[in-house]
Amino acid sequence: MIPLDTPLQFLKGVGPRRAADLQRVGLQTVEDLLYRFPIRYEDRGSFATIASLRPGTAASIAGEVVSCGVRPTRRPRFKIFELLVRDLTGSLRAVFFNQPFLSDVFHPHQRVILFGKLELSAHGLQLQNPQYEILRQEAGDAPAAPDADDDTLHTGRIVPVYEKTGTLTTRMQRVIVHRALAGLPAAIQDPLPADIRAREQLVDRRAALVDVHFPPAGTPIGELNAFRSPAQRRLIFEEFFLFQLGLVLKRRKADDERKARAVVVTDEIRESARRVLPFRLTGDQKKVIAEIVEDMKRPQPMNRLLQGDVGSGKTIVALMAALVAMENGLQVAFMAPTEILADQHFITIRKLLEASRFRIALLTGATPARKRRETQAELAAGSIHMVVGTHALVQDPVAFHDLGLAIIDEQHRFGVLQRATLRTKGLHPDVLVMTATPIPRTLALTTYGDLDVSVMREMPPGRHPIKTIAKPEARREEIYAFVRKQMDEGRQVYVIYPLIEESEKIDVKAATEMADHLAADIFPEYRVALLHGRLKQEEKERVMGAYARGDTHVLVSTTVVEVGVDVPNASVMLVEHAERFGLSQLHQLRGRVGRGPHLSYCVLLYQFPLSDQARERLKALTETTDGFVIAEKDLELRGPGDFFGTRQSGMPTLRVGDLVRDHAIMEAARREAVAALDDRRQAETLAALVRTGWEQRFGLAGIG
Ligand code: ADP
Ligand code: MG
Repeated sequence: MIPLDTPLQFLKGVGPRRAADLQRVGLQTVEDLLYRFPIRYEDRGSFATIASLRPGTAASIAGEVVSCGVRPTRRPRFKIFELLVRDLTGSLRAVFFNQPFLSDVFHPHQRVILFGKLELSAHGLQLQNPQYEILRQEAGDAPAAPDADDDTLHTGRIVPVYEKTGTLTTRMQRVIVHRALAGLPAAIQDPLPADIRAREQLVDRRAALVDVHFPPAGTPIGELNAFRSPAQRRLIFEEFFLFQLGLVLKRRKADDERKARAVVVTDEIRESARRVLPFRLTGDQKKVIAEIVEDMKRPQPMNRLLQGDVGSGKTIVALMAALVAMENGLQVAFMAPTEILADQHFITIRKLLEASRFRIALLTGATPARKRRETQAELAAGSIHMVVGTHALVQDPVAFHDLGLAIIDEQHRFGVLQRATLRTKGLHPDVLVMTATPIPRTLALTTYGDLDVSVMREMPPGRHPIKTIAKPEARREEIYAFVRKQMDEGRQVYVIYPLIEESEKIDVKAATEMADHLAADIFPEYRVALLHGRLKQEEKERVMGAYARGDTHVLVSTTVVEVGVDVPNASVMLVEHAERFGLSQLHQLRGRVGRGPHLSYCVLLYQFPLSDQARERLKALTETTDGFVIAEKDLELRGPGDFFGTRQSGMPTLRVGDLVRDHAIMEAARREAVAALDDRRQAETLAALVRTGWEQRFGLAGIG
């Protein structure tokens, strides 16, 4: 018998060297091995005969190697490995490009399986770079398993295909997995409660583990390759369920916390807020402010995520929350991801609070040491009511007198850790996280699963949709003419330069040259300014200030303006090398225009070659300005791992589930997890289950 927690090296046929290979991809126990899905399945129940093959179709064939070898081509570094196989009905050529090592893999008389798409070449029908598997080695080679397995494991059925792992081929893995399954105890514990299994129509765990690797005859192959077989669905659900249990428990634990003081809202406070407001709030702004204030009135700390597309007016919402806190004698910390943005928030908020009795300070990495010490002392004493800053707010030994509300703008740029650190600055303060990157629904259930969510979709009145066009480099002149026309009408323009080289120095040089060129040759009658990350703080402020006042007309910049910058008179966002930017990033950049009453344009200038992904990104941008649609598309194109960049930003490490592909299962798992924990009879067992290893398993901060 081989229990699930058996270390892999004790499995027959593994041994220390293969165990090390498996360990390298995170597989230590039999359980790890079995919870690693095949990447795809092949129906080898019946092989196509070579004589029956047709071009344009995909097929697996089984045959014997007749001959093989590297064929040189006219191009010196381009080599083709050619393989001729035959079965009882004929022979077929397979070619592999630039894989000369295949000379060591294939030999005449081997029995092989090839899988791939058939193409018609000048030499007749052939397979190009097919997947391959060698069934029977020649005499002398140590086979990975007894030959007797060949007919039962590797052919004559639906077979799993695994990702190659170190020296372990898919065939060896198939053998190892088969052994592990053969030794699996008759009864293994199932973490899923029986009632959930029944309700969600989930098969038994043991059966699922067996079927996911060796699907029973008759399982539709398409279903398997879409990861929708009953066995796959069951194991994905199990993973998501455990994950959601942890999130829900974390959430409930936070609900047990009590903040030092809940706020109250009086007519006086309402009046004070009204005095600060520079415009009428949109319906969505009002709705969200009400949601936030409701949270602030409760004894539990607020943990709320505000999602609002660029330009939807999140800043004023944050300020209203801040006012309520300050009117209640509490301090507020407002954290922004960049100095430029912190400066801008500081300037906006200071102006709005001018007539109030509240004192506000700025604290960033650029704050001079003396000023910083002063500010820190005043924060500790409570004579400063609100501090706006960058991550310096969490790094510094900043102590607050009575921190009641922490606002974190553009959350996707911060790690989860910083959120936690800021929270520890006060005695469980209210936390409001704001993001302009709409979080696709699945991610909202995962990364931010412990937060309540408010959404603003409405834009402030008087906005026109931004017109987005993508143009190739060849149309540059035309675009310059268009830009000039806009400036002639009094508008301002952003020109964004991407990070191209590894070195920031070189990038700054490229952007600088661009600015010089535009100033001297293209728009001599207008003032061109340059902004990038390497400028000194005062210099950045000066440049941004001049642009905001309209003293300069063209702002050439790196992506430092990506988030938050607000200059309503700017009407053109010209992005150079748009093909190099990510979808969400381009959407953020586009959000810098269309913030005033003027018709605005986003021009995406691209250069060839254009990858398929880049083409799709540009297409998506020209087709929609809805941030939620863009975010879903971005997630689809990039995959969840890349969506927020780093793991630190709170993406779970999943073994079998895929946040995009399996989002419907995640929603079901969420629902069931909440219900299961509400049921007192099972809550304790489930909590115990989660406590062992949740953190380690999902690579996320623990549930404590
Ligand atoms: P974001 O959600 O991207 O942070 P901001 O808070 O910067 O958006 O607001 C974008 C612009 O819209 C700002 O110039 C702001 O003053 C303006 N604005 C916000 N709300 C309203 C409103 N209700 N009516 C008119 N203008 C508004
Ligand atoms: Mg903003």
